[in-house]
Formats: sequence, C-alpha cells, structure tokens
Amino acid sequence: MTLAFAPETVTLPTGHFIAGAYVEGPAAIEVQAPSDGRVLAAIPCADAEMVDRAVRAAREALKASGWAGWQPRARLKALHAWADLIEAEAPRLAQLEAICSSRPIRQVIEGDIRVTAEQIRFFAEFADKEGGDLVPTGAGSVGFIAAEPYGVIGAITPWNFPISMAGWKFGPALAAGNAVVLKPSEMTPFSTLYMAELSVKAGIPAGLINIVLGDGPVTGNAITGHPGIDKVSFTGSTRAGSAIMENIARHDIKPMTLELGGKSPQVVFADADLDRAADCLARGILPNAGQFCVAGSRMIVQREIADALMEKLTARFAAERPAATWDDPAGFSPIISERQLNRIDGIVRAAREQGAELICGGTRFDRQGSYYQPTLIAGVTETNPAVTEEIFGPVATFQTFGTEEEAIALASHPTYGLCAGLHSRDLSRTMRMIGALQAGTVWVNRYGRSLDHILPTGGWKSSGLGKDLGREAFLANRRTKSVLIDL
Ligand code: NAD
Repeated sequence: MTLAFAPETVTLPTGHFIAGAYVEGPAAIEVQAPSDGRVLAAIPCADAEMVDRAVRAAREALKASGWAGWQPRARLKALHAWADLIEAEAPRLAQLEAICSSRPIRQVIEGDIRVTAEQIRFFAEFADKEGGDLVPTGAGSVGFIAAEPYGVIGAITPWNFPISMAGWKFGPALAAGNAVVLKPSEMTPFSTLYMAELSVKAGIPAGLINIVLGDGPVTGNAITGHPGIDKVSFTGSTRAGSAIMENIARHDIKPMTLELGGKSPQVVFADADLDRAADCLARGILPNAGQFCVAGSRMIVQREIADALMEKLTARFAAERPAATWDDPAGFSPIISERQLNRIDGIVRAAREQGAELICGGTRFDRQGSYYQPTLIAGVTETNPAVTEEIFGPVATFQTFGTEEEAIALASHPTYGLCAGLHSRDLSRTMRMIGALQAGTVWVNRYGRSLDHILPTGGWKSSGLGKDLGREAFLANRRTKSVLIDL
C-alpha cells in the first residue's frame, strides 16, 4: 500500500477551533514544509480577545454539558469513541502532520496515531476507576478526600510530534472532567485541529476542546496569563518554560506542568552487548534527525570499547540518506526550519572553535530542503557548547571514561535531567548507576519508550516540573478537597 501523497491535494484547516466550529482570522503566520521550504498555508495569530473567547467557550461547555458530572462510564465511552475515530482517520491525520513536519507518514501512523489512540483509551479507563478516598476519623464523624477537576486546562505544545503531544494533554485532562484550550506550535498546527474536529464527531461536547492558533509571545502569553485558565500544561523548550513560569507569577498563582528540554546521556560500560549498545546510541539521536526531547545526545563510553563503538557508529551515521518521499520510512528527516538548521550549524562551528574534533557530518546534506548530516563530535570539554546546549538536531558528542565515578560525573548535566540510557550486563553496577543518574527516566540496555504510557514521564532539574503519562498525569489533572463531617 502506498501512502505517498501530493501536498497540493490536502485541504488544510487554518482557523481556530472554538466551541466546535472553525473561526477564521487574518493570516499572520506562514507554515512551511521543511523538506523544500514551500509555504503551505498562513494561519491567524490569536490575540488576548480570541484567547478569552476560547476560554469562555470552554467554561460554558463545561457548564452546559455537565461534563465533570457525567456518569464516569459515559465519559469513558466518549473518549473511547474519539480514540477509535482517531485511528479510523489515521491517513488524513498523518497527512496533516507529515505535510509540515516532513516525517515519514508510516512513522506518524504507527508511532504517533496508534499510540495516541491507545493513550487516550488508557486515560479514559481512569474516569470510572479513580475516585476520592475515605479516611478513618473514628465514630461520630466522616472524613474523605474529594477529587475534582480543575476546570479549564491551558495547554501549549511543541512542533515535534504534535498528535502525541496533544494526546498527552487531552487524554488525562478530559478523563478527569476538565475542558482544554490548547495552542499547538505555529509550525505544525494542522493535525491538532483535526483531532479537535474529530472529538466533536465522537460525541465529546463541543467546546470541551478548543484550539487557538498563534505564536508564543502573543497567543501563548495570553493563555498562561488568563485568569480563566485554572492550570497550565506546557511541553516545549526550557527557555519558553521559564518565560511561562514568569508570566504566570506576574498574574497569578496557579499550578503548572512543564515538560521541557533535555541533554540526555547514554553511558556504555565495557561489559555491555556492543552491537545492542551501538544500536541504542544510534536510535537515541538519528530518528527525526535528533529532534526529540529525549534524544541521547551525549554518548559516554568506557575507554576499552571506545574505538570499536565509534567505528560502528560512524558507519551507521554515514549510511543515512534524506527521505526521498513521504512514503520512505527509512529516510532521514529534515530539520524543521532553516533558522533551526543555522542554529545547529552555529553550535557545531562553535564546538570546533573550542577545540572539539569532528568525527563525521558537521554540515548540511547537498540537496534542497533543511537537511543536516548526522554529526559526531569528540574531544570535548565539559564547557563545550556541544555538551552544554540542547541542540535539537542530529548531533551527538562522544566522551570516554575509565571508572564508574568518572562516568557519573560526565553523565550529570548541570541544567538538564530528562532521561538517561545505561548499558551494562553487571546487575550490581546497573543498580548503583540507576541510583546515581540524575534523570526522570532511566532506560537500561534499551533507549526510548515504546507503548509504556503506564510509566510517567517528566524531567528533573530544568527539564521539567510534574509528569505527563501514567497514573500521575491523570491525578495531576484533578485537585483534592479534604472534607470532615461531624455526624
Ligand atoms: P518552543 O519552546 O520553542 O515552543 C513550544 C511551544 O511553546 C510552541 O507552541 C510555542 O509557540 C510556545 N511558546 C514559545 N514561547 C512561549 C511563551 N513565552 N509563552 C507561551 N508559549 C510559548 O519549543 P519547540 O521548538 O516547539 O519544541 C522543541 C522543544 O520542546 C525542545 O526543547 C524539546 O526538548 C522540548 N520537548 C520536550 C518534551 C518533553 O516531554 N519533555 C517533548 C517534546 C519536546
């Protein structure tokens, strides 16, 4: 089956989606295809007034539908129906995502759409299974902890994996009885709009999911500073997360979940299975051209196996070729924009000026579009920008160590603590290292998540605050009320 398509045949939604209907606005931001730079469409940028309209729509929908008071099983069923429709509409959803991110369409269907549908079902199941708690108070009184939804969740998502990132926000928020006002990235807005459209078709009351289009400084700020937003749930860069905290604090005190950037290490000991470790190192930086938050961009390898591992890696890096078509699952992804490609190139140059050794890559592919070669950098100090900065591209550093203590010191990043990979067949060492690694997630003898939405995800240090996924994410979309009644 071919999934290739001609971009000009795809109708793109370009309005805000408020109270179940598209609301057009003046074209303000051009959305481009990174594979060839063509302008796909122009979208509006919601100002404070438009954001206010979406927040009011969400609150009115909560009231009119009584969503939080629905029989939990009915809420569960509506979410299941939405997940089914998302899967049924996978071809169009995938086109809307691939067209502006240039990811292979099969990867979007298998890696994002099916997984997102599963995650929505996973969160739906909490609706009728997680209640409050009775507490023992002795005779003459009753005590319990009631759990209530916040009301309106203000969500903001990044350009990478738009369907998955939106699913992480929508699933637990709706299952817990909230409404959502979400702003997708201005670079990849189309698939999120269509998800919202499908929610209404699936029977989720119109107005419970509202999408406002726009950029961070105008639309994002209007969401995080809006008094009608009861909680903020953000995924994106640490820089934007910090600006969001500041903006919230200027207006209000309100809870927030922040899923931010990373600079994750993969530590390989000499006793590891080398082929497996090499595969994990490559899979930690090559997919989506390294444009994923949990990229294992710092390879930290025990000296005895460094040459052997470097050889395997350079062969793997050199074999990557830019994707030829939407239907090419093996193709190497483009960088999302020329601006981001220039930033990546700037960091690689700065790294070399500060004494780093370029092992391979270090420049763009010689073809149209924003494609950057897989790049490996060695000979770096701890202050080299290739080690300190989240590059968000196909660039990894390669450092070596002798002892476990040296490995721990290299793996600890002063700023980030999102994930870490660990490769060893020694169980005692593995357990010691798990305890020493400063990260919200540790993968051992593997790298990356698969269908494990059961496990919460979220960073330590400046990589985030709070968790997405897992039971924790559902609980984070409710607030508790302690009740004590004298009988
Ligand atoms: P970004 O921070 O530039 O933008 C993310 C979103 O925030 C966009 O919708 C943007 O318009 C908005 N935004 C920007 N500034 C804002 C502000 N001041 N107020 C409100 N909203 C604002 O990030 P990006 O380039 O879209 O995505 C890449 C980043 O996201 C990387 O740092 C990556 O590590 C991170 N990320 C983290 C996770 C995670 O789970 N931890 C997942 C995916 C991506």
